[in-house]
Amino acid sequence: MTAEIIDGKAFAGIVREKVAAHVARLQADHGIKPGLAVVLVGEDPASQVYVRNKGKQTVEVGMTSVEHRLPADTPQDALLTLIQELNTDPAIHGILCQLPLPDHLDEDLVINAIAPEKDVDGFHISNVGLLGTGQKSMVPCTPLGCLMLLRDRLGSLSGLNAVVVGRSNIVGKPMANLLLRDSCTVTIAHSRTRDIEALCRTADILVAAVGRPQMVTGDWIKPGATVIDVGINRIPAPEKGEGKTRLVGDVDFDSASAVAGAITPVPGGVGPMTIACLLANTVTACCRANGLPEPEGLTV
Ligand code: NDP
Repeated sequence: MTAEIIDGKAFAGIVREKVAAHVARLQADHGIKPGLAVVLVGEDPASQVYVRNKGKQTVEVGMTSVEHRLPADTPQDALLTLIQELNTDPAIHGILCQLPLPDHLDEDLVINAIAPEKDVDGFHISNVGLLGTGQKSMVPCTPLGCLMLLRDRLGSLSGLNAVVVGRSNIVGKPMANLLLRDSCTVTIAHSRTRDIEALCRTADILVAAVGRPQMVTGDWIKPGATVIDVGINRIPAPEKGEGKTRLVGDVDFDSASAVAGAITPVPGGVGPMTIACLLANTVTACCRANGLPEPEGLTV
């Protein structure tokens, strides 16, 4: 079998178009412009690239983008004060604090200082609880993007066996909750799971969110399964020249795509969906804040 490639880049383009159309309607009908504030503390190069991309795409869909770049030694009180100001700023509907934060800052405290209704990352403890109990919440962007891709490919997920490899708060756990909410039978695997290969072979849906390059190989995959590769790993690529690198996922694409029914590539799979879902969450937050109907197809 040769797997169908799930084109996350193209799907993310469709999500952005829907967001842009809704933003235009909000402006035309209500004079409201959604605003996203991104806070970056320190100079982590990967975070700088993410923040730049987020700001660029926010403006492209017609929303206001506000960036706060703070020095790495910013005291916790100063960061909390900024978040409080953003919480009460009526022009800001979404707040994102780029992770990871420098070691002297308490990540949980900072995340939970963001007003839950503006928490477009969906990491606030209230949103985690709402998602876990099946209530309306802000849904973390990466798992939301994965779910959109799965629903688009499979339609109803009800009754399917899903295995999520990875139990982080930002990907693995919310992904498992979303799949459970869609009536999958869900197992979460992690570094202590026994015979993980055999477990993965039971999966109709296999989500890999581990951070280990090409760990999941074709012999871990049930023939015809749908494989979602969340991993983003940089590995040496001597074929491109000395010192060069390339991006790979947590799944070994070549062997996996010979067995799976469908698979997301890296790059071009889950990655583009994450920012598209951040934009979707921001417009959703703006509609909720203004008591307006939420855009269709942009949240779950
Ligand atoms: P974390 O490091 O927070 O979590 C990794 C998880 O993988 C842990 O639960 C860990 O288990 C588990 N794990 C580690 N080694 C193994 C192993 N050998 N076998 C089974 N499970 C293992 O990572 P994240 O969830 O933040 O990210 C995962 C990957 O997804 C990374 O590559 C990251 O770059 C990528 N990512 C991509 C995004 C996108 O937009 N596409 C967004 C966010 C992340 P344990 O808990 O037991 O230690």
